[in-house]
Amino acid sequence: MIYDYQDDDFIIDFDKFNMEVHSIIKKTGCPYCRNQNISKYGYTSQGRKRYICKNCGRTFSETTGTPIYNSKKAINKWIEYIECMSKSDTLREISSKLKISLTTAFQWRHKILHAVKSKVLNVEFCNEVEIGETVMEKNYKGNHHGKLDYKDDNNEIRILSCVDNNSRMVIGIDEPFIRKTNLDHVLKGKIKINSIITTARNMSYVQFARENSLKMNMAQGRRFSIYSHLDNKKAVMQGRSFINFTKSFCGVATRYINFYSILYVIKLINNDCCKGIFENLYKNFFISNDMMRERDFDSIKLV
Ligand SMILES: [Zn+2]
Repeated sequence: MIYDYQDDDFIIDFDKFNMEVHSIIKKTGCPYCRNQNISKYGYTSQGRKRYICKNCGRTFSETTGTPIYNSKKAINKWIEYIECMSKSDTLREISSKLKISLTTAFQWRHKILHAVKSKVLNVEFCNEVEIGETVMEKNYKGNHHGKLDYKDDNNEIRILSCVDNNSRMVIGIDEPFIRKTNLDHVLKGKIKINSIITTARNMSYVQFARENSLKMNMAQGRRFSIYSHLDNKKAVMQGRSFINFTKSFCGVATRYINFYSILYVIKLINNDCCKGIFENLYKNFFISNDMMRERDFDSIKLV
């Protein structure tokens, strides 16, 4: 635990936090050879703790190989940022609290969510799995280039939403209709064989179920299905609630939707509890190798 409680809120104890970072580094080992035989080795010129690997002899800092390796800002700024994020502060609030520009605040939010994405999406659904689809209108906010990124004739995306007893996933798909190739891309290997999937009325799932040894049940399907007691209402509700969630950010540009779907899932699985969200974000952030550079922001697309 690295928080102290104050008025139902939490504040970060940085000494405890640094100890936790140290133990994460001990566990993950040397970023070059993954050997765990490392020891402290002074500080870098930026004031970050330095380590030396006794196996390969290379030195590295506590941020080597993490998403903030190239950041000139202090490590504590990033932690404070994650704290603000877990408390749902707006970009304006974060920018004034941390004394960083709005642009930096905007980019950090996406860098953090990009870094934790693969961990959050690394789920396995099993037994009774609900899959729902929800239509979401496209939002071209922040597109100042005079031309749209998307085909003009397609003003909607589909939100694919999955739920079982333990896991959650929502993901935006830039198609007017979810195809089998989309399912292969986002769900393949994520549903345990022999699970029953209750899906939207879309034949793409039938072939997907067959290829992945899943039992198929279409919601509002044929009455004589032996699974007719199952439905996909929870998945559909989850998709709708995600769309409402994006509205709390005053609209999210469609190309960034899948950053927000990550944040939404983290909030859901932590029951909206700030410290749970914080812990989930920072732990996955510091073990991530997924960096996003400034120039990557121009080429962001949905899955
Ligand atoms: Zn090494």
